[in-house]
Amino acid sequence: MSKILKELGRGAFGVVYLLQTADSSKFALKVVRQTRPREDDLKEAKILTECDHPHLVKCFQFFKKGSALYLITEYCTQGTLNDYILQQKHYLQEKTVLRMLCQLSDVLRYLHAKNIIHRDLKPANIFLDLHKDVKVGDVGVARCIPNVFQEGPLITQAFYFHRQLDYTSEEASSITGALPYMSPEIHGQKKYTSKVDVWSLGCCVHEMMTLKRTFNTVYEVIQLKIPVMPRDIYSQSLETLVLDMLSEDPAKRPDAHSLLFKASAIRGKHYKSGDLVTSVE
Ligand code: ATP
Ligand code: MG
Ligand code: MG
Repeated sequence: MSKILKELGRGAFGVVYLLQTADSSKFALKVVRQTRPREDDLKEAKILTECDHPHLVKCFQFFKKGSALYLITEYCTQGTLNDYILQQKHYLQEKTVLRMLCQLSDVLRYLHAKNIIHRDLKPANIFLDLHKDVKVGDVGVARCIPNVFQEGPLITQAFYFHRQLDYTSEEASSITGALPYMSPEIHGQKKYTSKVDVWSLGCCVHEMMTLKRTFNTVYEVIQLKIPVMPRDIYSQSLETLVLDMLSEDPAKRPDAHSLLFKASAIRGKHYKSGDLVTSVE
């Protein structure tokens, strides 16, 4: 019989439990509350179970019960990139960051080719394994949440503050925590494309390099307060790439494919189209 061993954590829209099956295998069970259940959510969960990539948290099964969506996914034992960044006492080496960037671009390339946009890429949704290989979690789940992308003329902190009244303070801080990773066109309620993930990844890379949040508030994003890239820790090439990822105009951001190509070039490791970057040292 399967049993729930403990709670692994809580996010803005649900709770994650550690599940153990009869054969002692462990999984993560994510319960997403849906204030507005939509048929699309199930379609998207189905697409998720069909995804298979070495740097993507595998989703094995999903089902809907009442107004909640249950997702059974791979259990990641080593914590998130967010935890990892918080633990660091010294800057990470650029080559370590580039390696993760290659793996993350590879995931985005895979998802975008399937017309899936992650929409909630942030260090809390990226897991690390023992070899410091990354796994992206929470794909598509962002779609199952109260729809933050289709309301109001401009999403402001005040708007969110208002929304948060329905949530506990922990959940509320998780929502506001995710917002500064979202691109200006999302906050501006403009049409958005897969380039929103490239922006978010730019925020993650800058955070890995500086160990500081790229943007602390939505206001900073809207004002395009692009932080200074310290030259003592950034190479010129990575600085340029991150600035391109953080272009206000989505068309000026590299797509995931060229991002992978450019990041591999800075790393100095040849990348052949179609290769996975899994076999790096
Ligand atoms: P949000 O809901 O806004 O994405 P979040 O990513 O922090 O915020 P969840 O995805 O609900 O929240 O996850 C909550 C916590 O549970 C995570 O921070 C992580 O510590 C843990 N967790 C989630 N998924 C897994 C997993 N597959 N394996 C191990 N731990 C997990
Ligand atoms: Mg998450
Ligand atoms: Mg999430």
